[in-house]
Amino acid sequence: MENCLFCKIITGEIPSKKVYEDEHVYAFHDINPNAPVHVLVIPKTHIASMNEVGADNIEAVSRVLLTIPKIACELGLAESGYRVITNCGDDAGQTVKHLHFHILGGKQLPLTLA
Ligand code: 5GP
Ligand code: ZN
Repeated sequence: MENCLFCKIITGEIPSKKVYEDEHVYAFHDINPNAPVHVLVIPKTHIASMNEVGADNIEAVSRVLLTIPKIACELGLAESGYRVITNCGDDAGQTVKHLHFHILGGKQLPLTLA
């Protein structure tokens, strides 16, 4: 997808601090972390947001979800805990229109979600 920041991170056109990569999934450290550990996990195929998730791309989304606990474990968060967030649309504050899941951890996170 042209002009998509995260598609450019997947191809390496824009550098990132990679945490995990396979054929379908890419994960990297957030450039502006909100917690001691803040990683973004994305499908390699361009999906704009949760609004676009459907039967045609559920395998790509599933692969992302299956990878999240593995990455959390590698990051040492499995025991202490972590939060997984995806923002969809303006009210949620989605700034990059490529589906991504934030993994946040490494401290006691605020209990307020909204
Ligand atoms: P959103 O607000 O859309 O849910 O999350 C987008 C996230 O992408 C933000 O947490 C922001 O810090 C991160 N981000 C934006 N641009 C870049 C970048 O160029 N590199 C990395 N690693 N993260 C980015
Ligand atoms: Zn994209």
